[in-house]
Amino acid sequence: MPLSTDLSTDLADTTYKRVMLKISGEALMGDQGFGLHPPTVQRIAEEVKSVHDLGVEICMVIGGGNIFRGLSGSAQGMERTTADYMGMLATVMNALAMQSALESLDVFTRVISAIPMDQVCEPYIRRRAVRHLEKKRVCIFAAGTGNPYFTTDTAATLRANEMSCEAIFKGTKVDGVYDKDPVKFDDAKRYDTVSYDDVLAKRLGVMDASAIALARDNNLPIIVFSLDEPGGFRGILAGRGTYTKVQG
Ligand code: UDP
Repeated sequence: MPLSTDLSTDLADTTYKRVMLKISGEALMGDQGFGLHPPTVQRIAEEVKSVHDLGVEICMVIGGGNIFRGLSGSAQGMERTTADYMGMLATVMNALAMQSALESLDVFTRVISAIPMDQVCEPYIRRRAVRHLEKKRVCIFAAGTGNPYFTTDTAATLRANEMSCEAIFKGTKVDGVYDKDPVKFDDAKRYDTVSYDDVLAKRLGVMDASAIALARDNNLPIIVFSLDEPGGFRGILAGRGTYTKVQG
């Protein structure tokens, strides 16, 4: 069934109560190749609002790859942990941009950082974050796990477990997980479901291995869908559209 592009009249319903949305930093840069593209940030904020309107409690983790990645910094000679902290700081900038876009749509939002920076956003305190969710505030978890050598995929899985989310929704450029790169190969096949172990063994590139293992060990499903599809996030929550579910 085609997805509705009119988010206001789409009669979507969902059984989900609390979810984690993980997007990469690159999802915010539009066609620019770097940084933040405000209309793109706004479009994603509208997608989030459309799900918030269904009464779903929403956690978000946004990567930092549109600004800085630790690995590329260290490849250029920078000390790895310093480069990783720069990557974590990049995620805070993205989180603030998303907060601003969501609040322009009257969606109350908290940015919650794993690295305390009190003048900018809240420090991470699990019980306080749960309370925000109960009050229907969108919680954007920033600064990753707060530790170098990790990624925001692992941060999303960690926070999703801590917040008792029912699933992680990973918004990407493609509508699921394929057996090979669908951009390069016409005969690439999309999985409807795939196991955590197959993702790891076949190196399907859904998320990094530590994130997949953490999801597997806690039975947390990962739903990979296209964020480029208008109304896609809301449609997927209502069980429509195409996606891949990674599960046990
Ligand atoms: N990072 C980190 N620890 C974390 C999360 C992120 O050190 O717990 C750093 C790491 O350098 C990473 C960068 O932050 O490259 C940006 O995060 P990520 O690469 O996950 O962003 P995405 O690819 O999702 O945009």
